[in-house]
Amino acid sequence: MRKSIEDGQLFNLKPPKSFSIIGKNSNKIKSSLTKLGFKFKKSNPDFVVSFGGDGTLLASERIYPSIPKICVRHDSICFKCSKNGKVLTHPVKGRESLFYCSNCFEKFVAQKLFNMPFMKVKSYIKVQASAFNSKGIQIGKSLLALNEINIMHQKPQQALRGQIILFDNKKPISFVSDGVLIASAFGSSGYFQSCTRKKFNKGLAVALVNPVRLWKPKIYSSIKENQKIKVIVNRRHGLLYADNSEEIIKLDVGDFVLSSRSKECAYFIEI
Ligand SMILES: [Zn+2]
Repeated sequence: MRKSIEDGQLFNLKPPKSFSIIGKNSNKIKSSLTKLGFKFKKSNPDFVVSFGGDGTLLASERIYPSIPKICVRHDSICFKCSKNGKVLTHPVKGRESLFYCSNCFEKFVAQKLFNMPFMKVKSYIKVQASAFNSKGIQIGKSLLALNEINIMHQKPQQALRGQIILFDNKKPISFVSDGVLIASAFGSSGYFQSCTRKKFNKGLAVALVNPVRLWKPKIYSSIKENQKIKVIVNRRHGLLYADNSEEIIKLDVGDFVLSSRSKECAYFIEI
Protein backbone atom coordinates (compact mmCIF):
# COMPACT_ATOMS: atom_id res chain seq x y z
CA MET A 1 0.00 0.00 0.00
CA ARG A 2 1.11 3.52 -0.78
CA LYS A 3 2.57 5.24 2.26
CA SER A 4 0.53 8.26 3.34
CA ILE A 5 2.08 11.69 3.02
CA GLU A 6 2.51 13.40 6.39
CA ASP A 7 2.60 17.03 7.50
CA GLY A 8 5.87 18.81 6.72
CA GLN A 9 7.27 16.41 4.12
CA LEU A 10 9.37 18.04 1.40
CA PHE A 11 9.12 17.21 -2.29
CA ASN A 12 10.97 18.42 -5.35
CA LEU A 13 8.74 18.99 -8.36
CA LYS A 14 9.65 20.12 -11.88
CA PRO A 15 10.45 23.84 -12.18
CA PRO A 16 7.28 25.93 -12.47
CA LYS A 17 6.39 27.41 -15.87
CA SER A 18 2.73 28.40 -15.49
CA PHE A 19 0.59 30.00 -12.81
CA SER A 20 -2.87 31.14 -11.86
CA ILE A 21 -4.00 33.67 -9.22
CA ILE A 22 -6.87 33.79 -6.74
CA GLY A 23 -7.58 37.13 -5.07
CA LYS A 24 -8.73 40.65 -5.76
CA ASN A 25 -6.61 43.38 -7.39
CA SER A 26 -3.98 40.91 -8.56
CA ASN A 27 -3.17 42.52 -11.93
CA LYS A 28 0.25 43.77 -10.80
CA ILE A 29 1.30 40.31 -9.67
CA LYS A 30 -0.03 38.79 -12.87
CA SER A 31 1.94 41.21 -15.04
CA SER A 32 5.17 40.78 -12.98
CA LEU A 33 5.01 37.01 -13.38
CA THR A 34 4.15 37.25 -17.07
CA LYS A 35 7.05 39.68 -17.66
CA LEU A 36 9.44 37.22 -16.02
CA GLY A 37 8.34 34.57 -18.52
CA PHE A 38 5.68 32.61 -16.64
CA LYS A 39 2.57 31.62 -18.57
CA PHE A 40 -0.84 32.47 -17.10
CA LYS A 41 -2.92 29.30 -17.22
CA LYS A 42 -6.40 29.06 -15.69
CA SER A 43 -6.64 25.30 -15.78
CA ASN A 44 -4.04 23.01 -14.23
CA PRO A 45 -1.25 25.59 -13.65
CA ASP A 46 2.09 24.57 -12.08
CA PHE A 47 1.45 26.85 -9.11
CA VAL A 48 -1.18 29.23 -7.76
CA VAL A 49 -0.68 32.62 -6.11
CA SER A 50 -3.13 33.12 -3.25
CA PHE A 51 -3.31 36.92 -3.10
CA GLY A 52 -5.01 37.89 0.16
CA GLY A 53 -5.43 36.49 3.65
CA ASP A 54 -6.55 33.20 5.14
CA GLY A 55 -9.96 33.29 3.45
CA THR A 56 -8.37 33.65 0.01
CA LEU A 57 -5.96 30.83 0.77
CA LEU A 58 -8.82 28.47 1.74
CA ALA A 59 -10.71 29.43 -1.43
CA SER A 60 -7.62 28.92 -3.62
CA GLU A 61 -7.16 25.44 -2.16
CA ARG A 62 -10.80 24.61 -2.94
CA ILE A 63 -10.52 25.90 -6.52
CA TYR A 64 -7.07 24.38 -7.15
CA PRO A 65 -6.81 21.41 -4.77
CA SER A 66 -3.28 20.05 -4.25
CA ILE A 67 -1.66 22.44 -6.76
CA PRO A 68 1.34 24.12 -5.04
CA LYS A 69 0.53 27.53 -3.56
CA ILE A 70 2.48 30.66 -2.82
CA CYS A 71 0.75 33.04 -0.40
CA VAL A 72 1.01 36.81 -0.80
CA ARG A 73 -0.77 39.33 1.38
CA HIS A 74 -1.95 42.74 0.18
CA ASP A 75 0.18 44.29 3.00
CA SER A 76 3.57 45.85 2.35
CA ILE A 77 5.30 44.19 5.31
CA CYS A 78 5.93 40.55 6.21
CA PHE A 79 8.27 38.30 8.20
CA LYS A 80 10.94 38.67 5.50
CA CYS A 81 11.11 42.43 5.74
CA SER A 82 9.70 43.25 9.15
CA LYS A 83 13.02 44.29 10.74
CA ASN A 84 14.22 47.51 9.09
CA GLY A 85 14.10 45.92 5.68
CA LYS A 86 16.46 43.10 6.71
CA VAL A 87 15.64 39.44 6.45
CA LEU A 88 15.08 37.91 9.87
CA THR A 89 17.82 35.53 10.94
CA HIS A 90 15.49 33.21 12.87
CA PRO A 91 12.80 31.31 11.01
CA VAL A 92 9.21 32.40 11.57
CA LYS A 93 7.26 29.30 12.46
CA GLY A 94 3.82 28.16 11.49
CA ARG A 95 1.35 29.56 9.09
CA GLU A 96 2.66 33.14 9.08
CA SER A 97 5.91 31.91 7.51
CA LEU A 98 3.91 31.09 4.37
CA PHE A 99 2.80 34.64 3.71
CA TYR A 100 4.95 37.15 1.82
CA CYS A 101 4.00 40.79 1.47
CA SER A 102 3.46 42.18 -2.02
CA ASN A 103 6.73 44.19 -1.75
CA CYS A 104 8.80 41.08 -1.06
CA PHE A 105 6.96 39.23 -3.79
CA GLU A 106 7.89 41.89 -6.33
CA LYS A 107 11.42 42.31 -4.93
CA PHE A 108 12.66 38.73 -4.80
CA VAL A 109 10.01 35.98 -4.46
CA ALA A 110 8.82 36.09 -8.08
CA GLN A 111 12.40 36.07 -9.40
CA LYS A 112 13.36 33.17 -7.12
CA LEU A 113 10.35 31.23 -8.32
CA PHE A 114 11.40 31.79 -11.90
CA ASN A 115 15.01 30.70 -11.29
CA MET A 116 14.14 27.53 -9.37
CA PRO A 117 15.94 24.46 -10.73
CA PHE A 118 13.05 22.52 -9.17
CA MET A 119 10.02 23.53 -7.17
CA LYS A 120 10.46 22.59 -3.51
CA VAL A 121 7.10 22.11 -1.78
CA LYS A 122 5.99 21.19 1.74
CA SER A 123 2.92 19.03 2.40
CA TYR A 124 0.05 19.57 4.81
CA ILE A 125 -2.66 16.99 5.36
CA LYS A 126 -6.32 17.87 4.83
CA VAL A 127 -9.46 16.61 6.60
CA GLN A 128 -12.46 15.02 4.91
CA ALA A 129 -16.00 14.42 6.12
CA SER A 130 -19.19 12.79 4.87
CA ALA A 131 -22.68 12.97 6.37
CA PHE A 132 -25.10 10.03 6.57
CA ASN A 133 -28.67 9.58 7.73
CA SER A 134 -29.64 7.02 10.36
CA LYS A 135 -30.07 4.38 7.60
CA GLY A 136 -26.48 4.91 6.51
CA ILE A 137 -27.33 6.70 3.25
CA GLN A 138 -24.95 9.54 2.42
CA ILE A 139 -26.34 13.08 2.53
CA GLY A 140 -24.80 15.45 -0.01
CA LYS A 141 -21.24 15.03 -1.16
CA SER A 142 -18.07 14.50 0.83
CA LEU A 143 -16.31 17.65 2.00
CA LEU A 144 -12.62 18.45 2.14
CA ALA A 145 -11.05 20.99 4.49
CA LEU A 146 -7.61 22.53 4.73
CA ASN A 147 -8.25 24.03 8.20
CA GLU A 148 -11.16 22.21 9.77
CA ILE A 149 -14.43 20.37 9.39
CA ASN A 150 -17.17 22.09 11.40
CA ILE A 151 -20.22 20.33 12.82
CA MET A 152 -22.16 23.21 14.37
CA HIS A 153 -25.55 23.89 15.91
CA GLN A 154 -28.11 25.07 13.37
CA LYS A 155 -29.68 27.69 15.61
CA PRO A 156 -27.31 29.82 17.68
CA GLN A 157 -29.74 29.87 20.59
CA GLN A 158 -29.78 26.05 20.86
CA ALA A 159 -26.85 23.81 21.78
CA LEU A 160 -25.98 20.75 19.74
CA ARG A 161 -26.22 17.44 21.59
CA GLY A 162 -24.60 14.32 20.34
CA GLN A 163 -21.93 11.70 20.68
CA ILE A 164 -18.39 11.38 19.42
CA ILE A 165 -17.00 7.92 18.75
CA LEU A 166 -13.23 7.88 18.33
CA PHE A 167 -11.58 5.04 16.40
CA ASP A 168 -9.32 4.18 19.33
CA ASN A 169 -12.05 4.22 21.97
CA LYS A 170 -15.39 2.67 21.08
CA LYS A 171 -17.11 4.19 24.15
CA PRO A 172 -19.25 7.13 22.90
CA ILE A 173 -18.46 10.53 24.37
CA SER A 174 -21.66 12.49 24.94
CA PHE A 175 -21.45 16.24 24.44
CA VAL A 176 -23.53 19.41 24.65
CA SER A 177 -21.77 22.26 22.84
CA ASP A 178 -21.98 24.80 20.04
CA GLY A 179 -20.29 22.26 17.83
CA VAL A 180 -17.46 19.87 17.09
CA LEU A 181 -14.29 20.65 15.13
CA ILE A 182 -12.02 18.20 13.39
CA ALA A 183 -8.96 20.31 12.58
CA SER A 184 -5.76 19.70 10.66
CA ALA A 185 -2.36 20.73 12.04
CA PHE A 186 -2.33 23.43 9.37
CA GLY A 187 -5.66 24.77 10.63
CA SER A 188 -4.77 24.40 14.28
CA SER A 189 -3.53 27.98 14.49
CA GLY A 190 -6.89 29.26 13.21
CA TYR A 191 -10.36 28.63 14.61
CA PHE A 192 -9.14 25.56 16.51
CA GLN A 193 -6.76 27.74 18.50
CA SER A 194 -9.46 30.35 19.15
CA CYS A 195 -11.67 27.61 20.61
CA THR A 196 -9.08 25.58 22.53
CA ARG A 197 -6.03 27.88 23.06
CA LYS A 198 -3.95 25.00 21.71
CA LYS A 199 -1.96 24.28 18.52
CA PHE A 200 -0.32 21.15 17.17
CA ASN A 201 2.22 20.39 14.43
CA LYS A 202 1.17 17.10 12.91
CA GLY A 203 -1.98 15.10 12.20
CA LEU A 204 -5.45 16.16 13.23
CA ALA A 205 -7.48 16.84 16.34
CA VAL A 206 -11.04 16.71 17.59
CA ALA A 207 -12.37 19.48 19.83
CA LEU A 208 -15.66 20.77 21.17
CA VAL A 209 -16.72 24.38 20.58
CA ASN A 210 -17.95 25.97 23.80
CA PRO A 211 -18.88 22.72 25.58
CA VAL A 212 -21.11 22.67 28.67
CA ARG A 213 -18.73 20.16 30.24
CA LEU A 214 -15.03 20.70 29.58
CA TRP A 215 -13.47 18.08 27.30
CA LYS A 216 -9.78 18.12 26.43
CA PRO A 217 -9.17 18.15 22.65
CA LYS A 218 -7.98 14.82 21.35
CA ILE A 219 -4.85 15.24 19.20
CA TYR A 220 -3.71 12.46 16.86
CA SER A 221 -0.24 13.32 15.61
CA SER A 222 -0.19 10.25 13.41
CA ILE A 223 -3.41 9.12 11.77
CA LYS A 224 -4.32 6.83 8.88
CA GLU A 225 -7.06 7.38 6.31
CA ASN A 226 -9.13 4.45 7.65
CA GLN A 227 -9.12 5.77 11.24
CA LYS A 228 -12.50 7.50 11.42
CA ILE A 229 -14.06 9.93 13.85
CA LYS A 230 -17.83 9.57 14.09
CA VAL A 231 -20.07 12.37 15.33
CA ILE A 232 -23.75 11.55 15.87
CA VAL A 233 -26.37 14.30 16.22
CA ASN A 234 -28.79 13.26 18.99
CA ARG A 235 -30.77 16.38 19.65
CA ARG A 236 -31.32 19.64 17.79
CA HIS A 237 -30.25 20.05 14.23
CA GLY A 238 -26.73 20.58 13.03
CA LEU A 239 -24.76 21.96 10.11
CA LEU A 240 -21.74 20.42 8.45
CA TYR A 241 -19.26 22.49 6.46
CA ALA A 242 -15.58 22.65 5.54
CA ASP A 243 -13.46 25.74 6.30
CA ASN A 244 -15.19 28.94 5.17
CA SER A 245 -17.05 27.24 2.32
CA GLU A 246 -20.63 28.30 1.58
CA GLU A 247 -21.47 24.67 0.90
CA ILE A 248 -23.43 23.57 3.98
CA ILE A 249 -25.06 20.20 4.72
CA LYS A 250 -28.00 20.20 7.15
CA LEU A 251 -27.99 17.45 9.76
CA ASP A 252 -31.18 16.11 11.37
CA VAL A 253 -31.53 14.18 14.60
CA GLY A 254 -30.03 10.73 14.07
CA ASP A 255 -27.70 11.80 11.24
CA PHE A 256 -24.01 11.24 11.68
CA VAL A 257 -20.71 12.44 10.22
CA LEU A 258 -17.65 10.33 9.48
CA SER A 259 -14.43 12.29 9.35
CA SER A 260 -10.81 11.32 8.75
CA ARG A 261 -7.59 12.59 7.25
CA SER A 262 -7.77 12.86 3.49
CA LYS A 263 -5.55 11.14 0.95
CA GLU A 264 -5.12 14.59 -0.57
CA CYS A 265 -2.66 17.11 0.80
CA ALA A 266 -2.08 20.80 0.28
CA TYR A 267 1.39 21.90 -0.90
CA PHE A 268 3.15 25.19 -0.29
CA ILE A 269 6.22 26.35 -2.19
CA GLU A 270 9.39 26.81 -0.15
CA ILE A 271 11.37 29.84 -1.28
ZN1 LIG B 1 7.85 41.56 3.04
